[in-house]
Amino acid sequence: MNKLPPVDLARQYQQIDAEASAAALAVLRSGYYIGGTVVSEFEQAFAQSVGMPHCVSCNSGTDALYLALRALGIGPGDEVITSAFTFFATAEMISAAGAKPVFIDIDPATFNLNPSLIEAAITPRTKAIMPVHLFGQAVDMTQVMALANQYQLKVIEDCAQATGAQWQGKTVGSWGDVGAFSFFPTKNLGGCGDGGAMTVQSERLAAELRMLKEHGSRQRYYHEAIGVNSRLDALQAAVLQVKLRYLEQWNQARQILAQNYDRLLAPLPGIILPTALAGGIHVWNQYTIRVLSDTSSPSHRRDRVREQLLAQGIISMIYYPIPLHQQHVYGELGYGAGTLPHTEQVATEVLSLPLFPEMTVAEQERVVYALKEIL
Ligand SMILES: *Cc1c(COP(=O)(O)O)cnc(C)c1O
Repeated sequence: MNKLPPVDLARQYQQIDAEASAAALAVLRSGYYIGGTVVSEFEQAFAQSVGMPHCVSCNSGTDALYLALRALGIGPGDEVITSAFTFFATAEMISAAGAKPVFIDIDPATFNLNPSLIEAAITPRTKAIMPVHLFGQAVDMTQVMALANQYQLKVIEDCAQATGAQWQGKTVGSWGDVGAFSFFPTKNLGGCGDGGAMTVQSERLAAELRMLKEHGSRQRYYHEAIGVNSRLDALQAAVLQVKLRYLEQWNQARQILAQNYDRLLAPLPGIILPTALAGGIHVWNQYTIRVLSDTSSPSHRRDRVREQLLAQGIISMIYYPIPLHQQHVYGELGYGAGTLPHTEQVATEVLSLPLFPEMTVAEQERVVYALKEIL
């Protein structure tokens, strides 16, 4: 039986093979592999697509988060409010910068942090809010920015899963002080390896980010800070430049697939379909349903559905089985069971179904048909 994967990057590459291979070969033949015009051209094109004056590229979305925190002067003694329902890197980089992540609960309908819980989490040590635009959906940034302005907090947007998403007509990464993006291959704009970028309004902040990502140096061999080495390879920039031209088209294909799932799965019992807020444009990095648990054994029903899909060759994913406040390394923060009830609940219920721009109608019907049999 042929497998239906959660994403199919080889299929995506077929579509851009001629252009992307030519661009990659041109870099290989040029002999210039680090920096150069390919990288700066991509930075300009990406900044423009986000609607920001500056883009600073780096080696990963993880580095983008870390560099953003460092450039904004966030470190030991500071607190950063974020979600516990996200990839580990979000909180990990807050800790790596020396600050403390403060987790607030999510809105179970959107899986995003619930902005109305931010205010109660603010203390004299709070320096920033790090909203995560999870699964391709923007956080309600109107609310986040209003609080940030009121309390003079910095905002770092984790845009890793939401390249191209919008809130109130403004692209993610253009709301806060820094937008942190990942070009990991499975993101909506993904390279052929690791990559990341930061978008910023201020030229001064862009220069600070560049300094930090180049060993704390503005002028070669003069070092003013303990930085890192974080570069987007020319080879990645070349491929990303080609792929950026397809981003909107691919995001639209994702939206159509999501609408189809909404329509076809709506009658099925025991599941909750994802909610797209009316104020935003969702770009569906993941289509994540909730398989409601029977209270006696959390996650049992979800895990069974996943296994039954797998028995039919359909690979679904669990993002994320263990919320960050329940990760072993964050035990010291003292969040007991039940402190983030919605986060803990959805972690036992979420199941992300295959969805990628090149997915065919027949493939989608196969998923729907299988779920109809199982549920
Ligand atoms: C992928 C991801 C990251 C990290 O990006 P990398 O490029 O893999 O380092 C950070 N935050 C979220 C929400 C992500 O999904």
